Amino acid sequence: MVKYINVKSRTRNEFIDITDKIQELVREEGITGGICSIYVPHTTAGITINEGADTSVQRDIQTALTKLVPLEADYYHREGNADAHIKSTLVGVSQVVFIEEGKLLLGTWQAIYFCEFDGPRHRRVAVRFLKTIKSSS
Ligand code: ZN
Repeated sequence: MVKYINVKSRTRNEFIDITDKIQELVREEGITGGICSIYVPHTTAGITINEGADTSVQRDIQTALTKLVPLEADYYHREGNADAHIKSTLVGVSQVVFIEEGKLLLGTWQAIYFCEFDGPRHRRVAVRFLKTIKSSS
């Protein structure tokens, strides 16, 4: 069954660390081993995994994305958020993380980020688990 995490962004571009919320879901569901699929059902947001210890990294990523895809350019999309759609496609809307012994298998410095590109908004992140079936041997 799909579980949802609610996320509230406060600015137009913002990375929100959702690692603890997803780890909490793993615990609630009692999953010891398997795969966790994380999906953002939005066209102007994304999901990425990157440095969680030094928050200046996420700022650098946002700065680089904005240099690559400026707010104002010769876009056809008239809603005024073409940059957000493009950033969403560049970053991607899903990630897969392994679960081992009840824990998300992330590197020491890794965190899972919800990436807002057209905030502030109320958003949802869909999470689905696939449990490992233990073999008898
Ligand atoms: Zn749009």
